[in-house]
Amino acid sequence: MFLPKLREVKEALGSLFSAPYTTKFPAIPFEAHKAFRGKPRYNENYCVGCGTCAQVCPTRAIDINDDKKTKIRTLTVNYLKCMNCGQCEEKCITEKGIVLSNEHSLAVMQKDDPALFEKVDKSLAICESCGDVIACRDHLVWIKDKLGAKAYSHPNLLLETQRHFTDFEESKTKSIIRREDQIKLVCPRCRHKIVVADEFY
Ligand code: SF4
Ligand code: SF4
Repeated sequence: MFLPKLREVKEALGSLFSAPYTTKFPAIPFEAHKAFRGKPRYNENYCVGCGTCAQVCPTRAIDINDDKKTKIRTLTVNYLKCMNCGQCEEKCITEKGIVLSNEHSLAVMQKDDPALFEKVDKSLAICESCGDVIACRDHLVWIKDKLGAKAYSHPNLLLETQRHFTDFEESKTKSIIRREDQIKLVCPRCRHKIVVADEFY
C-alpha cells in the first residue's frame, strides 16, 4: 500500500536534484541533437538540379521553376509544407545535394518570410532547336562522369564536357533540323527528328 508512495517520493527527490529535462528556449538558444531531422538545406556544390527531391517529397514541399529566358532552374523548399521526413536527402542522386540540418525554429512574423524558404539556382541546358529545357548543366556533367568514356557517344554530354574547356557560342534555333545538326545540344524530341525523322521524311 505504501510502496507506490515511497517510489513517487524517491522520484520527486531525484528530480529535485537532477538537471531539468526541459530547455529555456527561446530565452536561451537551443541546439538540437545532431541527428535531429530539421530544415532541409541545399548544398549548391553537390546539387545538380535533377529534381528527384521534388518528385519524392510526399508533401510537395519542393517547387521547381524553370526560367527559359534566364536559363535558370530554381528549386525551393517551403518549410511550412515540409514534414522533415528526410526522403529528399535519402533519394538525392548525389547523396549530398540536400541534407537535413538540425535547425528547428520556424518562428517568424510573416508567412512569406524568406527564412521559411530554402532555394538553390542551377544553370539550364536549353534545346538549340526548339528552346525546350533539356536538363541542368551540372546534371549532364554528373551523367557524363557516371558513364565515363561511354558518355562521348551522346552529343549533349560531349558538348557539355567541351563547354568546360571552351567558351563557344550556342547556335541559333532553327525551324527545321536535319542530320547535319547531329552535334548540337538538343532535347530528346528534336534528337529523334534528327536521327529518325530525317531518314524517312
Ligand atoms: S541533386 Fe539532389 S538536391 Fe539537387 S535536385 Fe537532385 S535530388 Fe534534389
Ligand atoms: S524532408 Fe520530406 S517533406 Fe521535407 S522537403 Fe524533404 S521530402 Fe519533402
